[in-house]
Amino acid sequence: MSHTAAELDGAVREIAEEMRERPDRGTVADYIPELATVDPRRFGLVVIDAAGHVAAGGDADMPFSIQSISKVFTLTLALGMVGDRLWRRVGREPSGSPFNSIVQLERERGIPRNPFINAGAIAVTDVILSGHQPREALGEILRFMQFLGQDASIVIDEAVAASEQRTGFRNTALANYMKSFGVLDNPVVYTLGVYFHHCAIAMSCRQLATAGRFLAHSGMNPATGHSVVSPERARRINAIMLTCGHYDGSGEFAYRVGLPGKSGVGGGILAVAPGKASIAVWSPGLDAAGNSHLGRIALEALTRRMGWSIFGV
Ligand code: GLU
Repeated sequence: MSHTAAELDGAVREIAEEMRERPDRGTVADYIPELATVDPRRFGLVVIDAAGHVAAGGDADMPFSIQSISKVFTLTLALGMVGDRLWRRVGREPSGSPFNSIVQLERERGIPRNPFINAGAIAVTDVILSGHQPREALGEILRFMQFLGQDASIVIDEAVAASEQRTGFRNTALANYMKSFGVLDNPVVYTLGVYFHHCAIAMSCRQLATAGRFLAHSGMNPATGHSVVSPERARRINAIMLTCGHYDGSGEFAYRVGLPGKSGVGGGILAVAPGKASIAVWSPGLDAAGNSHLGRIALEALTRRMGWSIFGV
């Protein structure tokens, strides 16, 4: 191990303090009205290293809306259900377009570019839903999060889900458009209901960093010894996180942070330092691409300090 627990604690504490002081906080998402009520001064950071040491700073235990970070876990579930057949429904290329873009869908006959843009995540949700009632599919996703996060108290924030359901016209358009090409099997209203609800799962940085540990350790959570996915699948999910995890800000995130990561418009980011650590950061203000502004800056500081970029020190 190249760091001590005290070094990691110091880095996390100092970065969290520094971020709390910064005046530039980005803009809280308001297209889902319920998300606009979150205090932009919140900041949380949790790092869990390979030895299981947990370094926590700021609002580490305050639940927030994980939003698109759920897409990492729905991708994992769907791959477990249908394996590589999933790639008939969704691509694996970065989109270079905003998270809710519709333009590429027409060119590619309703097949979304990757599982992390909204269209792709809706198609993945549809795969999980097939053969189930919406309630069962959602229960499966929630139980998976509780299992990975090792916390049965993880819940769906119904107010956020209802808020998005009332205002999610763009996602409804994406789903209908894909349905017209035969890419979705289930009634659009069911698929979207499950999608909006899994985006509305609320988790703290501590729970999220715990849930991400299998991705940092070849598919297995070292705390439980449970293999969640094969090493090969963990590596591939990480690859998609690196190339597609931050929408049209994915290149910038790789350039500055150098880790696989997935952001959500709730201001969270789950990042993976393979073999080294699982990291969750939360700061609700977003940059122009819809990714956490201070979350990215904090991760950049952390990887620089710990020498964790996958591209070298
Ligand atoms: N539920 C959000 C939406 O579909 C997720 C977007 C995100 O977190 O990037 O718009």
